[in-house]
Parts: sequence; C-alpha cells; structure tokens
Amino acid sequence: MNITKFEDLPISDEIKRSIAEIGFEEPSPIQAQSIPVILSGKDVIGQAQTGTGKTAAFSIPILEKVDPNNKHLQAIVLCPTRELAIQVSKEIRKLGKFKSGIKTLPVYGGQPIDRQIKALKSGVQVVIGTPGRVIDHINRKTLKLDDVKMVVLDEADEMLDMGFREDIELILNQTPIERQTTFFSATMPKEILELTKLYQHEPEIIKVVRKELTVPNIKQFYIETRRANKLEVLCRLIDVYNPKLSVVFCNTKRGSDELVSELQARGYFADALHGDLKQTQRDIVMDKFRQGTIDILVATDVAARGIDVDDVDMVFNYDLPQDEEYYVHRIGRTGRAGREGVSFSFVYGKEMRKMRDIERYTKCKLVKHSIPTIADVEE
Ligand code: ADP
Ligand code: MG
Repeated sequence: MNITKFEDLPISDEIKRSIAEIGFEEPSPIQAQSIPVILSGKDVIGQAQTGTGKTAAFSIPILEKVDPNNKHLQAIVLCPTRELAIQVSKEIRKLGKFKSGIKTLPVYGGQPIDRQIKALKSGVQVVIGTPGRVIDHINRKTLKLDDVKMVVLDEADEMLDMGFREDIELILNQTPIERQTTFFSATMPKEILELTKLYQHEPEIIKVVRKELTVPNIKQFYIETRRANKLEVLCRLIDVYNPKLSVVFCNTKRGSDELVSELQARGYFADALHGDLKQTQRDIVMDKFRQGTIDILVATDVAARGIDVDDVDMVFNYDLPQDEEYYVHRIGRTGRAGREGVSFSFVYGKEMRKMRDIERYTKCKLVKHSIPTIADVEE
C-alpha cells in the first residue's frame, strides 16, 4: 500500500488539524508506513535515518490511543537525552493540541525531582523520559507502570550506545506484558535485535532506506586550513554566507568554551552547549537558539545528539569528528525536512585521511572550498 497523504491515514480530525497547523504537508515515508501498523496494535521496529520524522511516527499513534478519561499513565517514551525528551514532549503536545484531556510530561535528570513528582501526581498519561530518571520515579513509586499500554524506545541505537540497556530492561520488565512495544532507531545494531526478541511480540519491521547515509540535500564542503587559522576561516565563512542559524561542532568541551569566547569577543552571538552545563543552562541556550537571540551554537557531540531545530542552514565541523557516524549525525542537524543545508568541514594536513574515511562511509565526496578572502567578506 502506498499512502502519501495524511488524509488517507486512519487518524482523527483533531490530530489532522494540528498536523495542518504545524504545517506538515504529507507524511514522511516512515510515518506513512508505521502509523497504520502501530494503530493496528502491532509491535513495530521502525528504522529510518535521522531527520525523517520518526517522532511523529510514534507520537500520532500514541495520541490516538491514549484514553483522555483514564488518568493513569498509558504510554511511555524512552529517550537517550534530556534535550530529546523535552523535544519529543513538545512535539506530542503540539500534535495533541486539539485533543483535550491528555497530559504529557518530560521526565529527565537535572530537573528538580519534586517538581516532576508534583506534576506526575496531577495525572499524567504520557511520559517522555530518560531511563535513569524514570527508574528513580519507579523506585519512589511516583511513576506507576501497571496501566501502560504502549512503550516506545526512541533513538534506540543511541540509548544502547550510551549504556542504557540494563535500565531499559528494568523499565520494560515493570510494564504489563500485553503492552505494545515499538522501537525507533536510525540504525539496527545486533543489540536492538536482541531486545526485540526479549520484549516484542511478532514485531513488524519497517525499514526506510536511502542509498546514501547522508541526506542528499546537504552540500558538503571541506576546507583545508591550519589549526591556528580555523577561527579566522570560520568567521569569514559566517560573514560571507550569513547563515540564519548555524551549529559549530568541536570535539571537546573546553574547545567549545574557548571558541565561544573568541566568537563573542568578535561580536558574534554565540553560545556553547555541552555536557558540563546544568540542565537549566542548556534549556536557556536552546531557547535562545530557537528564538535566534544567538545564531551560532557551538556544540559537542553528546550535547547535540538528536537536537532538532528547524532553520539550521549551516553546520561546521570545526574539529573533524573522531567517528564517521558522528559526521552523519552532525551534518544531519541541517537540511532537515527537505530544506537545503550546507556543511563545512575543517581539515588540516594528516586529517585528510580521516576525511577520506568519512567519504567512504557516507559514499559521498566532499567538495573542496577555498578560504574566503578579506575582499569576499567585505563585498
Ligand atoms: P527523526 O527523529 O527521524 O530524526 P524528527 O522526528 O526529529 O526526525 O523530524 C525531523 C524534522 O522533520 C522536524 O523538524 C519535524 O518537525 C519535521 N517533520 C516531521 N514530519 C514531517 C512531515 N511529515 N512533513 C514535514 N516535516 C516533517
Ligand atoms: Mg528522533
């Protein structure tokens, strides 16, 4: 079956209305294929690369299935990071805007637990949480899973990468056996398939593959520059191309802090996002970035995982990532949902080899870009 319109999907008018308000014109392939299957009650393994709309693929069925008259927890989504939990929670709220009586709550570490307990007591039906904090609530008996009908593991590969397997199993073991279990992931490593065997019942595997690993509408450039010149080159590129929002990746927290100071000293509106920041600080930075109060986000890989901000038109690999997979995740911050995106990777001397590895992995050629001259900048 080839569904290409939301109209043709078995979803209620309230949800269709919010989809229209958000502005999604048609379902992405993973949405078109998974929504009907999840609605039918089957367990699903959904695999599609970053930026393909996996969030709505499980959020729409959750909203359809949650009973607003039942005030118990009915659906739980597990995410690898706090940022992602907040983001998924926001998306569910937006999609559920016209369906009244559904309360959702993100539950993550770094936020005072008392506030979460208070919110949970008011009767939350959908929780989006990071595994550690969810377990904390289970132990305190502030989160009861006896009435849970749906469990979603979002970005399952990343959760396993980050060592959450035991926690995930512990949580799944607390939910009713008749639950519906869905896994969403960009990749399907062996460990996920192991979990599948243990916790899913005859799952339907929905795999949306693209030939290349990278999103095709990202123009990928590389620039050869010595380490000492990177800052200057970055500033020139920003001045010449004037991106609306850009994300600059560094390999270390310290490197990203230093770069932010340098950029700020030159009058750019930049801020850092990395694992050393307190949750409240991270939230503030993300809000500023979404609103455009800062337009350059300097990030490390862990902090930037899964972050989805529309309108990021440029990604810089200020430091080339250690791992080829990170490269794909990084440049996937731009060119989302069919928009155009550009990435620049800074490469010096012996890093050329690493760049060739990236090219082999992504099956893409990076195009050489020259360093803009001062004359280019002043034009
Ligand atoms: P994934 O989890 O697969 O990485 P997301 O769910 O974060 O992807 O979605 C990526 C981006 O695509 C988001 O900005 C989201 O709002 C947008 N998006 C999702 N579904 C659609 C759609 N059907 N049409 C247009 N944009 C969409
Ligand atoms: Mg996702």
